Amino acid sequence: MAPIRQLTVIGVGLIGGSLARALKAAGMVETVVGGGRGEANLRRALELGVVDRYELDLAEAARGADVVLVGVPLGAMRAVFDAIAPVLGPDTVVTDVGSAKATVVEDARAAFGPRPSFVPGHPIAGTEKSGVEASFAELFRRRKVILTPLAETDPRATAKVRALWEAAGAQVVEMSVEHHDEILAATSHLPHVLAFGLVDTLSRWDDSREIFQFAAGGFRDFTRIASSDPVMWRDICVANRAAIEHALERYMEDLAGLLALVRAGDGQALEAVFRHAKQARDRFTAMLEQ
Ligand code: NAP
Repeated sequence: MAPIRQLTVIGVGLIGGSLARALKAAGMVETVVGGGRGEANLRRALELGVVDRYELDLAEAARGADVVLVGVPLGAMRAVFDAIAPVLGPDTVVTDVGSAKATVVEDARAAFGPRPSFVPGHPIAGTEKSGVEASFAELFRRRKVILTPLAETDPRATAKVRALWEAAGAQVVEMSVEHHDEILAATSHLPHVLAFGLVDTLSRWDDSREIFQFAAGGFRDFTRIASSDPVMWRDICVANRAAIEHALERYMEDLAGLLALVRAGDGQALEAVFRHAKQARDRFTAMLEQ
């Protein structure tokens, strides 16, 4: 018998769909029930075998679940928590995958009160694509998942969520909500803002058609994440705005420094910056490949 009898996934998109696929493949779940907003995506999830059944009524989807995974954009978390709260048993484990944690915790506490079986989480894995069609079972293999258990979180609930992610091939680490939001502002949220900003800026230049015609691999690499879902990133920027503001300000100070070096034609100083950055990135990619 699989360790989890019923897993309910609310928001069967890239992340929720990929975890459901991975857990099915690992024999961790007997039944996956999907819940969400639009029927088209849920019907597709059923056709693809990602869910065994689905409900448009979120409370019905969550009823009887051992674990509820909430995989909706940050701005939709509160409404989902409110909808499922009445049907959750005390031991039903609720977890989420939101990319910023403070607002999710705020939303969960407002909907559930202090809930020992709520475990906030965030997989550090994704692509620029959305929806169940883009989901795949291997997405979390050898990737990190951050759990941010709270003072009221029952360690047994945390252990259950950890086991799910480990079964999907991920490496689980724990940290505080505040630390998570600061780190992710720097490593994920800032690069997304920069990529969206750069493409937006260039596309407004008069000769943008020509610019994009001659864009090569470097431009494609740097801007891939500007194809990500605008609603998801709107929500992340609003939810984690204090930490993103801080990261963006620090970056803008350094950019002003770079502009001064370019203006002065100071090749030596530019090379020193680029060399330092290359060494840091080479170390980081070597670490990822280990
Ligand atoms: P996604 O592929 O767009 O999936 C989101 C799902 O949520 C869709 O199935 C959507 O249903 C559903 N949904 C949207 N609004 C809803 C609402 N108000 N009520 C119920 N369901 C709703 O997005 P994703 O990339 O999986 O992201 C989901 C979460 O994971 C977000 O919180 C994001 O911050 C986090 N995350 C994303 C990544 C990444 O790289 N993409 C990485 C880590 C964490 P419809 O299809 O019917 O619209």
